[in-house]
Amino acid sequence: MELIRVWKNIPVSEIDNHLLIVDDLSGFCQNCRNPGIKYSAGISKCPNCGAEFKYVTTREAANSPLGQKILQKIHNVYADTTIIDFQDYKHLSDKKKAHSLFSNNDEGGN
Ligand SMILES: [Zn+2]
Repeated sequence: MELIRVWKNIPVSEIDNHLLIVDDLSGFCQNCRNPGIKYSAGISKCPNCGAEFKYVTTREAANSPLGQKILQKIHNVYADTTIIDFQDYKHLSDKKKAHSLFSNNDEGGN
């Protein structure tokens, strides 16, 4: 099966609380920072904080052999879950953090 990227407008705050970051063997809950989640069974909620995993990603480069292997594995386990690009997420997340650093007294400003 071949995978193709789709770009979608999703607020990063929506992703933060529902993201499972996986490597070849285990997953990491972005909400509570719980590592070592066994995702191969298709776990849909964090066993530690109960966050629902609506998004899944990997830190491996999508075009590397290992990245391809993991993406295929994610797709097999989470066919109905949105797979996002880690670099896209990190870029937006860093931008949000930088923005909030400089606007402590300006809640919600853009
Ligand atoms: Zn969690």
